[in-house]
Amino acid sequence: MLQTFFSLKNKNMEKLRIAIQKSGRLSEKSLTLFAECDITLDSGGGRLLASSPDFPIEVLYLRDDDIPQYVADGVADVGIVGENVINEKCKKLIVTEKLGFGKCRLSLAIPKNENYTGKEYFNGKRIATSYPNILNKYLIENKINAEIHEISGSVEIAPNIGLADSIFDIVSSGSTLFSNNLKEVEIVQYSEAVMVEHDNLNENKKNILNDIIFRIRSVQEAKKNKYILLNVPNEKIDAIIKIIPGMKSPSILPLAKEGWSSLHSVIAEKDFWKVIDKLKQKGAQGILIIPIEKMIL
Ligand code: ATP
Ligand code: MG
Repeated sequence: MLQTFFSLKNKNMEKLRIAIQKSGRLSEKSLTLFAECDITLDSGGGRLLASSPDFPIEVLYLRDDDIPQYVADGVADVGIVGENVINEKCKKLIVTEKLGFGKCRLSLAIPKNENYTGKEYFNGKRIATSYPNILNKYLIENKINAEIHEISGSVEIAPNIGLADSIFDIVSSGSTLFSNNLKEVEIVQYSEAVMVEHDNLNENKKNILNDIIFRIRSVQEAKKNKYILLNVPNEKIDAIIKIIPGMKSPSILPLAKEGWSSLHSVIAEKDFWKVIDKLKQKGAQGILIIPIEKMIL
């Protein structure tokens, strides 16, 4: 009985350990994600491990390349890492959620002044990359016979120093390629940051993870939408509701000024600029657009 009590208590105190990048392009956005979900983290001294005073998680700070292995081994339960790294490391992991940041692509690039003739251009070429597994798969699938030169950093300088003829690397804006006299010729895959989980989490950890996913989705949904307030002449209310129907239907409050109402609704951010003219044409005035922090559907 006593034993059951203690194992239950331990189970309830058990934390979900999440690995994130210690320092790099995904670090700040990963921390912002926790903050937006109202999960605070203590500074964790040496910053290898931090815990949360208000949520049952621990955060482990690692190099992004190490995250798939740590999660596959169960040293971390969950990780936040780019799909590019996950695909390269080929570990047995479950992708829990796409996170919408760290967007980039893995592309083949060649010197700017070369005449690109199509994929067969790469036959007999030396390609420098930090992603040999993804590249090898692509070359086999496309029946290209090229030589892969694996290097761990600054891949973009390889053609200029004669180490390779072309490169296979991460591209986002293309400015790094441009400044190294290279041009992107084939996009092999797109990538963004994802949450991955160990393939055998216990029920308690799965529940904690589900709570986090619920919060993340509420925040992401809220970012896509805006709260809109506008004053409308009463006789135009029906026409305006057709333009901005809201989540269920808008709230309407009478204004002190006779014949006018205040209408409150929710609108997708991407639609706002499309409907603004129509709202004005129907006589809407004093239009306010306010960000939404969380949205539970
Ligand atoms: P670490 O020291 O942790 O190994 P790193 O130098 O390998 O870091 P970063 O350059 O910080 O990695 O990039 C981390 C991830 O950010 C990439 O794997 C990719 O998923 C994503 N990313 C998004 N945009 C870019 C970009 N323009 N260049 C590089 N990575 C990008
Ligand atoms: Mg890395």
